[in-house]
Amino acid sequence: MQAYLDNAATTKPCESAVSAVVDALVENYGNPSSLHRIGLKAEEAVTDARKAIATALSAQPECVTFTSGATESNNLAIIGSAKTYGKRKKKIVSTTVEHPSVARTLDYLEENGFEVVRVSPNHNGEILPDDIISAVDDNTCLVTCMLINNETGYILPIKKAFTAIKRLYPECITHSDCAQAFLKTPIKFADLSADMISISGHKIHAPKGVGAIVKKKEVRLLPVMFGGGQEKGLRSGTESVPLISAFGASAKEFYPTLSNAINNAKEMNAYLRKELSRLPDISINSAEDLCSPFILNFSAVGIRSEIMLHFLESKGIFVSSGSACSKGAKSSVLGEFRITDECVDSALRISFSRFTTWQDIDMLINGLIDGRQSISR
Ligand code: PMP
Repeated sequence: MQAYLDNAATTKPCESAVSAVVDALVENYGNPSSLHRIGLKAEEAVTDARKAIATALSAQPECVTFTSGATESNNLAIIGSAKTYGKRKKKIVSTTVEHPSVARTLDYLEENGFEVVRVSPNHNGEILPDDIISAVDDNTCLVTCMLINNETGYILPIKKAFTAIKRLYPECITHSDCAQAFLKTPIKFADLSADMISISGHKIHAPKGVGAIVKKKEVRLLPVMFGGGQEKGLRSGTESVPLISAFGASAKEFYPTLSNAINNAKEMNAYLRKELSRLPDISINSAEDLCSPFILNFSAVGIRSEIMLHFLESKGIFVSSGSACSKGAKSSVLGEFRITDECVDSALRISFSRFTTWQDIDMLINGLIDGRQSISR
């Protein structure tokens, strides 16, 4: 028996995604750019997936450009915006809690002449819309803020901030990294006031290596990759029909049941919190009312994250210490959320998916109890 509770790192591909991959590898292997019918059939699969992703965001299919994942989408949105709009406007506003695919891209632009303002959470660990809005001015070409933080599940007030920014500075581009939000919270693209968002396939039971940038049609964006002009010139490179079809298949499968999935995650999250509150020396790092129900970060105070992680692993329970992206390196993002050093050192991230069961959570609770008894401080 095993309990996989690291779904913010990646999810198990669903059956419909796996069959879509197999079908595109075995049967539908054409190049969507070819003019013959084998090519057209491959193109149809891409079009179908584009529609499925667009439907899941209440957006138009023309808004969706496929990429290799949220990392590429974030790079394209940020570097592309800087190229398109940053000739005279040299300021970019973001936050201190972004994923490295945003944070490192901003570092790169900073080294190349841009001024980057990074808004921090306040003493309560919250980022207020006004803190983002007041950092923007006439010289700002881009605001990029994630919707759901990957380490704590904290939900940033993007809609409020972006709506005000668009009213005050209509030319300022707004972008949101929605990798942890897509199909985990209802998103209507037009309602977010975002010009562009980034999403990823492998967070919603599609394979790794596929994602999309979703962009308002009227917003211009220069490409950062050059080649055959696929995806209307924004993302050259032969489309990965297997991965794109799988991404479409998982969106088709999970969009209709999104509210069920959210309710399930809420119930499991609440149950886990209740059980954790009975255990000694547990500190919860994700505030229930401010965070996604799919992520719960807590600290088994006094036991280093990696020690507990590997103890749990020995019992077949898989969780994350901080962010999986940083390979166990101490997270600066948790500190930004005002989590104490002691709690950062012992932080564990539990993340749910459509496939999580109550048994998984009970295994985790029992594992934590055993861990506390077995691991000497
Ligand atoms: N942004 C966030 C918030 C993420 O959690 C991740 C995945 N860890 C990414 C971006 C990168 O996504 P991908 O793995 O698809 O490149």
